[in-house]
Amino acid sequence: MKKITILGSTGSIGTSAIDVIRAHRDEFQIVAMSAHGNHKLLMEQIEEFNPIYVSIGTEEGRRAIEERYPELTVYMGEEGLKKLGALDEADIVLTAVSGNVGIEATVEAVKKGKRIALANKETLVCAGELINKMVEEYGAEIIPVDSEHSALFQSLESGRREEVSKLIITASGGPFRGRTTKDLEKVKLEDALKHPNWAMGRKITIDSSTLVNKGLEVIEAHYLFGIDYEDIEVVVHPQSIVHSLVEFRDRSVIAQLGITDMKVPIQYAFTYPERGENNLTERLDLVKLSRLDFEAPDMEVFKGLKFAFEAGKIGMSMPLIYNTANEVAVDLFLQGKIQYLDIYRIIEEAMGKHTPVELKNIEQIKEIDRSLRDEIYRKY
Ligand code: NDP
Ligand code: MG
Repeated sequence: MKKITILGSTGSIGTSAIDVIRAHRDEFQIVAMSAHGNHKLLMEQIEEFNPIYVSIGTEEGRRAIEERYPELTVYMGEEGLKKLGALDEADIVLTAVSGNVGIEATVEAVKKGKRIALANKETLVCAGELINKMVEEYGAEIIPVDSEHSALFQSLESGRREEVSKLIITASGGPFRGRTTKDLEKVKLEDALKHPNWAMGRKITIDSSTLVNKGLEVIEAHYLFGIDYEDIEVVVHPQSIVHSLVEFRDRSVIAQLGITDMKVPIQYAFTYPERGENNLTERLDLVKLSRLDFEAPDMEVFKGLKFAFEAGKIGMSMPLIYNTANEVAVDLFLQGKIQYLDIYRIIEEAMGKHTPVELKNIEQIKEIDRSLRDEIYRKY
C-alpha cells in the first residue's frame, strides 16, 4: 500500500489524483490532503478517504472541519502545507497547489527523502537549484506529473543523459494561436479561460494562453533534466497528442504519446517504475485523429515564452522574478484590474528592473518574492 499526501486536493490536478486513487483503493491510501478556500469539497473528500491530517486556508473552513471531524488533525495555511509535506506517514507527496506557495512544503518533503510527484511547476522555476541540491543531499526523488515532463521523463529512459542532444517540448498554442498582438489587445477574461484541449485551473489556463505556461515548463525541464536552454526546443502541436520528445545524439527521437488526460501522468508518478492498469475508456485512436500538426511558436506575439528563455539563460534569481511577476499579473487580470497584454508588460518591467542575485536559501526566495509582489500590487 502506497501512502499519499495530496497538496491541493480540491483543484484540477488534485481531483484527478483522487480519481486515480479511487480506482486503485487496494494500492493507494490518502494520509493527508489540503485545500485553500473550498472546505466543502475537502469535507466530502475527508468523508470518502478518511485521512489522518488535513490543512485548510480559511478560519471558517477550519471551524467547519473541526466541528464535523473532532478526531482529525487540522492544520492551517502555509504552515499547514509545510506540516503535511513533512509527515512521516507518507511515501509520496503530490504537489498540486497553484502558484509558488508550495515551495516550502516541497522542501519539507525533500528533507524527509520522499518521492515527490511534482505537478506544481512554479516550485522548480523559483527554487530549482536549491531543490536539486537538497534532492541529492537527502536522497529524495522527483517524478514529474506535468504531461510534457512526464513524457520527457519516460522518453529519457531509453538512453543515458550524456547521449541526449535535445529536448522537444510540445505546446498546444492555446486558444489564441495564430493571433496578432493587435488581436490580443482585445482579449477578454472569458476568451482566455477557454483552453482547446485541457480542462485545468484558472491560473494555468491563462498561462497556457500567454505561453507563460510553456515558458515555465522550459525552465522546469532545465532543472529537472539538467539540459542547457540551447538544447530545449518548443514546437506547437495543436492536438496535444505527442506530449514531448527527446532527440539522442544518434538522431533517434523518442516521443511519448497519449490521450489528453492528466490521470495518466499522475498515475505513472505514483506507480513508477511500474505501470498500473487503469479504467479509462478513452484510448489513443490514430486513425480517427488522422493527422498531427506541428509549427514554430510565435515568440514575438506570445512573449511569455521569449521572456522565459531570457530569464532561464540569465539564471540565478531571474526565473523567480519571471514567475512572481506573472503570478501577480495573472491574479490582477483574473480580478479584472488589468488588460490582457499588461501581463507581458508587468513581466518585462519586473525583469528589466531586476539585478540577478544568487539564491542561497528559501528565506531569501520568499523575501524577493514578497517584495516584488508588494511592489506590483501597490501599483495596480
Ligand atoms: P487549481 O487552481 O485547479 O487548484 C489549485 C489547488 O491549490 C486547489 O486545491 C486550491 O484550493 C489550492 N490553493 C490555491 N491557492 C492556495 C494557497 N494560497 N495556499 C494553499 N493552497 C492553495 O490548479 P491546477 O490543479 O490546475 O494546478 C495545480 C498545479 O499543477 C499548478 O502549479 C499547475 O501549473 C500544475 N499543472 C496543472 C495541470 C492541469 O492540468 N491542471 C497540468 C500540469 C501542471 P481551493 O480550491 O480549495 O481554493
Ligand atoms: Mg503541461
